[in-house]
Amino acid sequence: MTRRRWIADDWDGRSATLKGEQAAHLIRVLRAQTGMECDMVAGDRVWRAVISGISGDAVQFALLSEVEAEPALPVTLLLSVFKFDRMEWIIEKATELGAERFIPMTARRTERHLAQAATARVERWRRVAREAAKQSRRSDVPVVEDVLSLKAAVRIRPAPPGLSLLLAEQERSTTLFAAMQSALQRSAMNNPSVYLAVGPEGGWTAEEEALFGAEGWQAVSLGPRILRAETAGITAMAVVAAMLT
Ligand code: SAH
Repeated sequence: MTRRRWIADDWDGRSATLKGEQAAHLIRVLRAQTGMECDMVAGDRVWRAVISGISGDAVQFALLSEVEAEPALPVTLLLSVFKFDRMEWIIEKATELGAERFIPMTARRTERHLAQAATARVERWRRVAREAAKQSRRSDVPVVEDVLSLKAAVRIRPAPPGLSLLLAEQERSTTLFAAMQSALQRSAMNNPSVYLAVGPEGGWTAEEEALFGAEGWQAVSLGPRILRAETAGITAMAVVAAMLT
């Protein structure tokens, strides 16, 4: 039986503490007792841990030994905010596939009411990422940044030899696969950082595509069909994850 996995609220060298809703669940629902074993994610590492004490609404753990961790992939997804249930879906699935960071952004054709409500959703998106990281037994939780304007997001680039790839529905010559393949052949690193930008349901405007181009983003195609934003995001994530060792 695989041990339950928790994400430490506080930790130091050899101990960790759960507080808040995780501790309440552990105490009330799972009847926590000293000596119970679990996996504890603390500081980007996974530990075999044992309950060493329960006080009020907090549970203390001793960290015994490190467990083989599933590291993230150096992939950042810049997501033009689209329907929130689909945003949650892509955050959950891309977390399972190893994405390490999400940057929600407002593009010109992002629906107005979604753009206005997005900031209030970021905490929920962080919870979705945390739950998906736990379920997929990752040793880390992907970062969900605060919502950025597209102008600000375009300037966020990985250091060389990282790739900034714009998923462009109009692009016909360069596929994502070809762009990744030539980058991997060129770069000595087998795991360069990859940034993927996904447009809104209404697509990119010509100005936005020019802005990305001016900032050095490479337009890449996922094929001749028009995919929904979440389909494009997950397809790109799967292709990149398969090509990074
Ligand atoms: N409404 C637009 C499509 C937008 S799809 C239209 O009908 O033309 C939303 C986003 O998904 C796009 O901005 C792009 O980032 C991505 N996408 C969809 N299909 C794609 C494809 N074939 N290649 C690359 N990106 C694609």
